[in-house]
Amino acid sequence: MIADLILQVAKQYNKEQVANNAGNNSVYRHRPSNSSFTHDYCHDTRCLRQMVYQSLGFPQEDLAGRAVLVFDDSSWHEELTKNWIDKSIIKLHSSQMKVDCIQTIRGQQVSGSIDGILTLPTGEDILFEHKAINCNSWERYAKGDPTELPWDYLAQCAIYINGLNKFNPEIKKACLLMKNKNTSAYLEYLLSYDFKTDTLSVNELITSQRDIVEIHHNMVGILDNILKKWDEVDTYSGSKKLPLRPYPADNWRCQYCGYKNQCQNTDRKTEFEVLQDSGKVIEDKKAFDLIDNYFIQKAEKSRLESQARKFEKDLDFMKLEIENLMLDLGLKKAVCGKYSVNLTQTERELVDKELVNKNAFYKKTYTNLKINESEV
Ligand code: SF4
Repeated sequence: MIADLILQVAKQYNKEQVANNAGNNSVYRHRPSNSSFTHDYCHDTRCLRQMVYQSLGFPQEDLAGRAVLVFDDSSWHEELTKNWIDKSIIKLHSSQMKVDCIQTIRGQQVSGSIDGILTLPTGEDILFEHKAINCNSWERYAKGDPTELPWDYLAQCAIYINGLNKFNPEIKKACLLMKNKNTSAYLEYLLSYDFKTDTLSVNELITSQRDIVEIHHNMVGILDNILKKWDEVDTYSGSKKLPLRPYPADNWRCQYCGYKNQCQNTDRKTEFEVLQDSGKVIEDKKAFDLIDNYFIQKAEKSRLESQARKFEKDLDFMKLEIENLMLDLGLKKAVCGKYSVNLTQTERELVDKELVNKNAFYKKTYTNLKINESEV
């Protein structure tokens, strides 16, 4: 009763918020929380197409109640974390302080509110940014792989350090703290920014378990790259065009996107209708590398899949052998070394697809892409 009710209330509340904020937060503007960039080493950044949708003022679809709660949870987690920091020897202050960041973008003032400034026991002040994220993402980041970093959050930190420069030029470092919403474990990235070279360095990753991973990844020209992405948004929205979809429909970003249906259905069909059927030879090196890389990764995937299939087959046979052994021994339960074996039976009701009412089906347009190795 409550479980379902809360989701409905959240959905309705979000709808009212969006309606009340029309002309305010719902209008796109360049701001630190919208910062992102594209670079050869990172693909998983904020969706350009989504930013252009927002900039062009396309109406957002209602978010499902669960998505509203996911966003809402994050701000409460931040408060909880701050409360614990307050009990420690590290001082957190200037929460939600407004900072003006970069003022040169087509006369627009880019401003945002920081999560705070930490004063360390050494007296040093550093920027504090907090994010509460899901378990999967957290565990992915906790591995410390320098190719899997929270790129957009790092970009946001770089902008804020720049903004804080007018307030306190000594602040050149940041702590990006990320909480696992499922387990309450934390990880933090320790960052430093070099004003001369516009480089944000991701120095270290520290987790709640006190694992320290040295990362040393330098993001050279970070602000420049952020501005380039914002410029791209302006160029597309200025010409009232949408960039192509950068993420497949099952990507997690699309699941939480307020333009999901418009993006994945109607526009795709219109785009397809204007394409030429020319069979033209593409000579661009970037295109060649992309397609070549696709085949290399595809070959690797099928090698791993065939290995996995072999394991699955072996495991199925072994399971059957164990089942037969239990039947032979006349046992439902047994203990063998450190393992326990239970033989159970379950009944499941399955839907007979042939009998499903035809009205339950609806039409959705998919674009199919076939890439074959040419025989030339
Ligand atoms: S649905 Fe996905 S690809 Fe489309 S705008 Fe949203 S995030 Fe981007």
